[in-house]
Amino acid sequence: MNLRSVTRNPQSSAACPLCGSQETGLFCHAFDHVRWTPEERWEILWCRDCGYGWTHPPLEPEKIGTYYPPAYLGNTSQMIDDYRQGRLQKSRSWRKETEKVGLIEQFKTGGRILDVGCADARFLLALDGNRWDRTGVELSEPTVALVSEVFPKLTLIAGDIYSPRLTPSSFDVVTFWHVLEHLPEPEKVLRRVKELLRPGGLVFISLPNLDSLQALWFRRFWYGFDDVPRHLHHFSPRSLQRILSEAGLEFLHGPLFFSRIVNFHCLKWSLINWSREKFGTRGPYYALKPLLFVFELVESLTRSAGIITVVAAREIGRDHRRLEASGPS
Ligand SMILES: [Zn+2]
Repeated sequence: MNLRSVTRNPQSSAACPLCGSQETGLFCHAFDHVRWTPEERWEILWCRDCGYGWTHPPLEPEKIGTYYPPAYLGNTSQMIDDYRQGRLQKSRSWRKETEKVGLIEQFKTGGRILDVGCADARFLLALDGNRWDRTGVELSEPTVALVSEVFPKLTLIAGDIYSPRLTPSSFDVVTFWHVLEHLPEPEKVLRRVKELLRPGGLVFISLPNLDSLQALWFRRFWYGFDDVPRHLHHFSPRSLQRILSEAGLEFLHGPLFFSRIVNFHCLKWSLINWSREKFGTRGPYYALKPLLFVFELVESLTRSAGIITVVAAREIGRDHRRLEASGPS
């Protein structure tokens, strides 16, 4: 895709943190739509060479927590209640979880799985507990305490991926559902993933795609920027491939465009943002909504969806391959 038209802003020029190139520019400005603070603007900077984007200035690590409002993870008690009553399993939100399970089970149908930033653990709940040994890490201690009490078969850890309770070389699958873009030092995180995976284990990463038609078209109205400044990074297939390989993981598949629900949600909210901010009403959104289906078709044909997923592996090392070839002794 031709992103050469991105505006250059000499004030914002900085070397790309991922590849070191000086060919960087301003993609757009963005504000926090979750806390709704339009007066506070961040720059989205972008590298022409590797496609990586980043929020500038980045949040200082010790201040990141203050940018997550208490209700950020939703109402966990309500989720538990809905799950027990069977209402959650009938919802659109649950379909997003079963879609993820369907994607993973195209590659592996059981084993030990770790979900990083698991929130209320609904993805882990959607996995079959007879085939999957399910672990999640989540920074929110109250959420972990509440969910662990009700679902003792899940192993939930209040903390991050560096928790010593996670055993190296013990996981078949690690997942990041809209999480990697929130984490400082994503390369270090991916090195830890490599350490935690068994040889041949897989990592699934799902996030907004800066190199998408949606991002290029909607710019500052793009839903993928609504979570700025919590989204510290704005990846694309190219930059993801680069960072995975620098972390020593083998890029296998992607970008996969497996969830129409999630992609359409992103497209829809981008149009709502545009409509509200330009006209102060959702009216134009309703008038133009049918066109989103055409837009989605073009995205699908050009393989440039707004939300993408990639799959990478911890390579089966040479020694391990030799052992496998000679069989058990
Ligand atoms: Zn770069």
